[in-house]
Order: sequence, then C-alpha cells, then structure tokens
Amino acid sequence: MKRILLLTTGGTIASRLTDEGLAPGLDGDALSHYLGGLPDSYDLTVRDILHLDSSNIQPEEWRLIARNVFEARNSFDGIVVSHGTDTMAYTASVLSYMVRNIPVPVVLTGAQLPIEHPLTDGLDNLRTAFAMAASGHPGVFLAFDRRVMLGCRAVKTHTTAFGAFDSVNWPLVAQVNGAGLTIREEALPPVGGPCVLRDQLCEQVFLIKLTPGLDPEIFDMLLRMHYRGVVIEAFGAGGLHFIRRNLIEKLHAAAQAGMAVVVCSQCLYESSNFALYQAGQKALAEGVIQGWDMTTEAAVTKLMWALGQTKDLEEVRALFERSLAGERSV
Ligand code: ASP
Repeated sequence: MKRILLLTTGGTIASRLTDEGLAPGLDGDALSHYLGGLPDSYDLTVRDILHLDSSNIQPEEWRLIARNVFEARNSFDGIVVSHGTDTMAYTASVLSYMVRNIPVPVVLTGAQLPIEHPLTDGLDNLRTAFAMAASGHPGVFLAFDRRVMLGCRAVKTHTTAFGAFDSVNWPLVAQVNGAGLTIREEALPPVGGPCVLRDQLCEQVFLIKLTPGLDPEIFDMLLRMHYRGVVIEAFGAGGLHFIRRNLIEKLHAAAQAGMAVVVCSQCLYESSNFALYQAGQKALAEGVIQGWDMTTEAAVTKLMWALGQTKDLEEVRALFERSLAGERSV
C-alpha cells in the first residue's frame, strides 16, 4: 500500500456555511471521512497545517507548506495538499521552485463545492490527486476535474465551473479515463538533482497589467516603496507604450536602480517574444528579462523566489533563461 500524506490547508473543499459566508471549518479527518473506503486503498496520514481561505495564503504560508512537504519527502510515497482554488496556482508554482527535485509526487487539489455538499466535486478531485500521488512520478502537480497538470503551468480560469484550471502552454500530465489514471510521460517535469529546501523569497515584487496610457510614474512609486522586482503583463506578443507616456525611459531608471523587470504577455496562451516589434526591442535594450510562455503566476513567484536566492540581477536573468520545473519552454 502506498503511503500518502494529506496536508490540509482549508479552501472551499473544507468550508462550511457561516453567518459571513463560506469559511474553512472541516479538518482532514472529516475530509477523509467523506472519501468513504478510499483511505483503505492507501496508507493515509493526515496533517492539518492551515485552516484558511486561500485568499489568505501568502509567502509565510508558502514557506510553511514547503517545509512540511520537504520534511515528509522521504517518509511517504506521495503528498496531497488540499488548498483553496483561488490562489492554488500561485502555491503550486512557488512550491515547484522551493522544493525543486522533490523525489515524490506532490499534488495540490481542492474543490468548487464544499465536500459536505451533495454535488461536490471534491471527492473526484481528491481521488484523482491520491492516484497521482501514488503514481511514483515526482514533481509538483495540480489535480482538478479528473485532470492532472504541472503545478507551474496551472491557471485558474473559471470561478464556478468544475473544470476550474487550465494547463497553459503545456499538455496535461494525466487524465482519468476508462483506463484509469493515464499518464503522459512526455509532459512530466524534468527530474534529477538533489532536493534542497530553498524557501527564501523576496516579497517586494509587483505585477503590472499594462493598460493603454498607463502612467509611467508608477515605476517611481515602486522604487520609492523599495520594490525589487516587477513583472509586466505587456500587450500581445510584447509591446508597451513609449510615445507621450514613455515606459521605456522608466525601464532604464528601474535597471539603473537595480530592479529586475520581467516581461510577459497578457495573452493567456502562446509565448511572448519582445524581439518581434520595435516597442518590444526598445524594452529588451533596457535589459528586461523575457518571461516567454510562462504563466503570470509562474513568473511572479519565480521572480520572488529568484530575488530571494540572489541580489545579482545577472543570476536572476540566468535563472529565467532556464526551466527549473517545466515552467517555461526552452
Ligand atoms: N475562496 C476559496 C479559496 O480559495 C475558493 C475555493 O477554494 O474554491 O479558498
């Protein structure tokens, strides 16, 4: 029997209706109670580490989850983390960097309807997550709606549909069908190398979603507030405005001040390429780091993580030129 650890953190799956709306109220034993006989198929250990709506899961909680995962890596065949869906893609991405080369599957899951609801999707999601956790394929994954994706490629795309997550710019790692959990080997993340817990993060990272005419002085404000990194979701394949309101000269000032600027696209699918247009090339000339086909969640958390590892911007750039956990296509 595979030894599976269930770490619970809250979220809708564990929520109950209160006077103030849904709030986490069930612990892991209650969750496993609803799984009926399923826990008998696994040697299950349950640990409640948080009871939070995932809107309240922040870098401090990421570190706690990462530490629990890291410390359990040699005692279990797989780890399931139940988590709210709202920020699950951020947690899945940041864990991919913090516990890189984890030797076992770590599978995040949750639900759109509480486990106590008669129509809950939580049971299916937990079952899929347990199956992936028992699969022997290492990496950080997200299981939802009978599909498994790389944690660092997942994006929450629906507020209520059971298919709440998409695997962006990367095929699904596994699907549940008549053949059971069917793994797609070529979609699995890179493996190998020692697993070291690297949980230092820089929290001074800001995300700018560009809007036409955005005032470039936003950069002055961010520098005054001691932000060390910015991710820009730019237009299309890679464009930002430089007439009348000149963002390019602010990129120059940001680079001079030692701020790391990563540029991505606000299009969800396919890759940005800032070399394509003049507007993008001007940004590249100021030393911005390309995010290529990374999701915003993966880019923001990678920048927080990279700036937590080093103050040297060339080292940050080098980390972005590599795919650490499958977060970008190379
Ligand atoms: N607000 C909830 C959370 O993220 C939503 C969910 O779990 O589906 O914790």
